[in-house]
Amino acid sequence: MNFVSTRGLSEPHSFSEAVKIGLAPDGGLFVPEILPSLSLKLSGWEGKSYPDLCASFFREFATDIEEEELVAMVEEAYSNFDHAEYAPLVSLSESISVLELFHGPTLAFKDFALQLLGKLYERQVSKTGLLINVLGATSGDTGAAAISGLVGKKGVNVFILYPDGRVSPLQERQMTCTGETNVYPMAITGSFDEAQAALKEVFGDRDFSRAVNLSAVNSINLARILAQCVYYLYAWLKLPVGQREKTTFVVPTGNFGNVLAGWMASQMGMKVAGFRVATNRNDILHRFFSSGDYSVDDASASLAPSMDIQVASNFERYLYFGLGEDADKTREAMSEFKQKGKFESRDDSLIKSMSSSRMDDSEIFETISNLYHKYGYIADPHTACAFKDLDEFEHCVILSTAHPAKFPETIEETLGISVTHPSLDSLKERQIVKHPISANADAIKEFIASKQKPVQS
Ligand SMILES: *Cc1c(COP(=O)(O)O)cnc(C)c1O
Repeated sequence: MNFVSTRGLSEPHSFSEAVKIGLAPDGGLFVPEILPSLSLKLSGWEGKSYPDLCASFFREFATDIEEEELVAMVEEAYSNFDHAEYAPLVSLSESISVLELFHGPTLAFKDFALQLLGKLYERQVSKTGLLINVLGATSGDTGAAAISGLVGKKGVNVFILYPDGRVSPLQERQMTCTGETNVYPMAITGSFDEAQAALKEVFGDRDFSRAVNLSAVNSINLARILAQCVYYLYAWLKLPVGQREKTTFVVPTGNFGNVLAGWMASQMGMKVAGFRVATNRNDILHRFFSSGDYSVDDASASLAPSMDIQVASNFERYLYFGLGEDADKTREAMSEFKQKGKFESRDDSLIKSMSSSRMDDSEIFETISNLYHKYGYIADPHTACAFKDLDEFEHCVILSTAHPAKFPETIEETLGISVTHPSLDSLKERQIVKHPISANADAIKEFIASKQKPVQS
């Protein structure tokens, strides 16, 4: 299978190539040339373990990797998850289940994609002997998860830009206390959106990105989206057959990667009632899905920092598929958005394929408290955002995106309970190493260039 750009001006790439370069050369995002139909395969996947299901799913896409090698990579990628089911489905009531995606090493759903991506990079380095420089921007959890997936990997450098003072103290510790020399957490002055804009500019310098073999680890990387499709399928296959089509997945959303993965799985044959995009007060996506207006505002800090995003990079993939895989139209929409800072949908089906909700900080506090008192369940502030107007659904699966122990201040303030996790406690004794820098493409390039050393075998 080959992968094409949403903007239609790049040559098709193989799976491994597309994963390695991350962003397509024309500035678009990679998408599968065709979405395979899985309808007939799904029943045969019933009862598979998480790694088995993941390997079977990736067989459809990673056609340039040998089956045995793929199976081994997937098994290793998920070997450090601390739950026998990897993504347990917990029932809160007859109509509400929670899919817990926080049993990986950094306690957030991003581990599902980034542990596997780490394996894919490692494979690439061993095949080509070339150093890979991974660059990402994070509002918190991506950075921690990317670093955990890539830490100590031979031939891989990781550069992570994060807005200084706008990630939680524990998220910062997860990024800055690894003690490894291939990891460079870069604390930028500015917001996540500014970090992301600078990152795009660095990637836009083709000579530079080629010279240092630069790869994007943000959720624009195709492998991340595909890895995230797997837990939707896993949860769906666990539901009683009669419930599957009546189920709505409710997804705490920032960069739109997570919910997009579920929607793509549905386009491949996973029949569900729908998807709900749950935002915090940074609600560009809620505005889009409720009124068709996609216009940028400034992102402001909330209790759910990993969703403090205005420009959702993966939205471009949704546009592409929603516009009938028409790269010309996608390119036009994206350039309209770039020029005017807004995009208005003239296409109803784009708006109607998902519903949406929004929660401000006071509702997040209230929800955490209600969930605890009603079900004895402690939800992290991101997951809490999903619990809005759920009465509309016959059955829903809430994606729980982070462990509450990652946000102990909020939980303590709301419930008076201190939540901890052993993997976080051990971080508190370690030294923080970070590199302050301005959100400026030239400064970032200079920093990366200064850290190049040949791969040692
Ligand atoms: C990244 C993240 C989100 C947002 O996911 P997107 O794929 O960017 O929409 C939500 N919750 C948590 C805890 C996260 O780390």
